Amino acid sequence: MKIFHSIKKFIDSEVKIDSFIPTMGNLHDGHLSLITESKKHSEKSCVSIYINGDQFTDVKDFENYPKTIEEDIKKLEKIKVNYLLIPDKNDIENFSKPFDINLEPKKITNDMCGKYRPGHFLAVMDIMHRFIQIVKPKNIILGEKDYQQVMVIKELINIYNYDISVITSPTVRNKNGLALSSRNNFLLDNEEKFACDIYYALLSAKIMFENNIPVEEIIDNVNKLFINSHVNIEYFTIRDVKTLQHSYDNDLIALIAGHLGEVRLIDNMIIKSSHNNK
Ligand code: AMP
Repeated sequence: MKIFHSIKKFIDSEVKIDSFIPTMGNLHDGHLSLITESKKHSEKSCVSIYINGDQFTDVKDFENYPKTIEEDIKKLEKIKVNYLLIPDKNDIENFSKPFDINLEPKKITNDMCGKYRPGHFLAVMDIMHRFIQIVKPKNIILGEKDYQQVMVIKELINIYNYDISVITSPTVRNKNGLALSSRNNFLLDNEEKFACDIYYALLSAKIMFENNIPVEEIIDNVNKLFINSHVNIEYFTIRDVKTLQHSYDNDLIALIAGHLGEVRLIDNMIIKSSHNNK
């Protein structure tokens, strides 16, 4: 695996990247599943590890974000990634143009997670726009766990008319259903089982939908499930899979965010699929 710390060296080497896998490091099996997915579509994969301070709403969250670069490199070498980019902020900014904030698709960026994390998705669009200019990938591989982020990045690609395919990979969970996340490191042992309420809520929503309970009633019922939970619910909603709007005629996804102590958790689940594969 070739590691680049310098964007100039990366660009000068003229490597051709098929698939790009952006991450913030502290790699777990969820991240590694994206690399496995990328190998199905590409010869040359490039992973980035960059903690984008601008997309954090809370300075403490940014400062405390887990950094495990040595272990990450070992994992990426083991899984045989071709290129790893570990750039710094100035270097990225010197070699790319910013996202034009006038083009922000606020209908999607100010909704759900964006409503509770102002500026978050604008910063995501900015960093992805910059990485796209530098890496010039054919594909970007993203986790379905961050479903709204996937939709935001698809929107970015549409806005700039980039010739890039977004390939998504299913959420990797632990044996109790909790979606793997770098922030799970901050859960205490007993909190991990409380965090599973998030997954159970999504499963209950799916079962309720299969039992023909109307969407509004499902939302009410799921919110009630959290009255006695340790998880402090931020939002639970059901949306159209393709538009993320409140329209319930086509395939549907349930999305949730909540806090367990200091830890913010998000998850989602397709609850109605015409492909019948979820
Ligand atoms: P992050 O390092 O949190 O920015 O995540 C980098 C990429 O890994 C994003 O595309 C995430 O959606 C994806 N990812 C994070 N957790 C998981 C998971 N549990 N399963 C699948 N993909 C994940």
